Amino acid sequence: MPENISVILSEPRPDDPGVEALADSLAERLAGRPGLRLARVANLYDLEPAGPVMESIRRIEGDLVVLSALYPRATFWTLKTAGVPGCLADRGESAERAIWCLRLHPGADAGEILGQIDRIVARAHGGATTPGPGGQPVRPSAPAHQRWYPVIDRQRCSGCLECLNFCLFGVYGVDAAGGLLIEQPDACRAGCPACSRICPEGAIMFPQHVDPAIAGDDKASLEGLKLDLSQLFAGADPSVMATAERDRALAAVETREDSRGGDQLDDLVDEMDEMDL
Ligand code: SF4
Ligand code: SF4
Repeated sequence: MPENISVILSEPRPDDPGVEALADSLAERLAGRPGLRLARVANLYDLEPAGPVMESIRRIEGDLVVLSALYPRATFWTLKTAGVPGCLADRGESAERAIWCLRLHPGADAGEILGQIDRIVARAHGGATTPGPGGQPVRPSAPAHQRWYPVIDRQRCSGCLECLNFCLFGVYGVDAAGGLLIEQPDACRAGCPACSRICPEGAIMFPQHVDPAIAGDDKASLEGLKLDLSQLFAGADPSVMATAERDRALAAVETREDSRGGDQLDDLVDEMDEMDL
């Protein structure tokens, strides 16, 4: 019997408007569909790489179809960064299993997405239209807390380490061979996309950013990003913008630490008052 294909349905975030209804409709229509195993999981970008959900995704064998509100490039590299084996489908021949990344967005049509999945199943089964029985639908995994960190497109990254030298928050590091590591992803400042603007290869994505070029849209080129920015910000240099964004994030941290220091002092004074000192 031909091998089943696994479909991972990544829960949209509440700030992905219009996608939740699409995800529900797809989950309903995919459940028990012949030739497929469906797993509905918390938003892929928010999953901890060492957590049980990502571990179970790593253990899935055979081709994968991933439905997510992220751009396909961001979905793929989020999975790869978490150690999920496979190559991006339709990018030439590869010995690795294929990962198909389909984007859920407000304008997407559930019927069209189901048609794409049917074509993927038929292709995997050598054109057979009646592949094996479907698997059981899997309940959504527990919602994860919302994370914010850079995702690197390793096919684009040249290893120049400009991002490492630019970031002041210890997000990046190097491995034993001198290659780029995302050492402390959660040290990245929420909402800050600064280093994506200084990467010469356009390799750094922030999948939840509103700008498609920063979020991983393949069609939004690096040159396009720079052009759009200069139009939007009256000729501002992207590196100047990036420095301003990074420094704003740093100032916000310092302000928070100052106010925390003040709170601690207030607590101490209260304690001393209570002790009648
Ligand atoms: S700046 Fe870009 S190309 Fe250079 S190491 Fe960082 S991600 Fe890679
Ligand atoms: S976005 Fe800002 S905080 Fe996050 S890795 Fe880049 S420079 Fe560092």
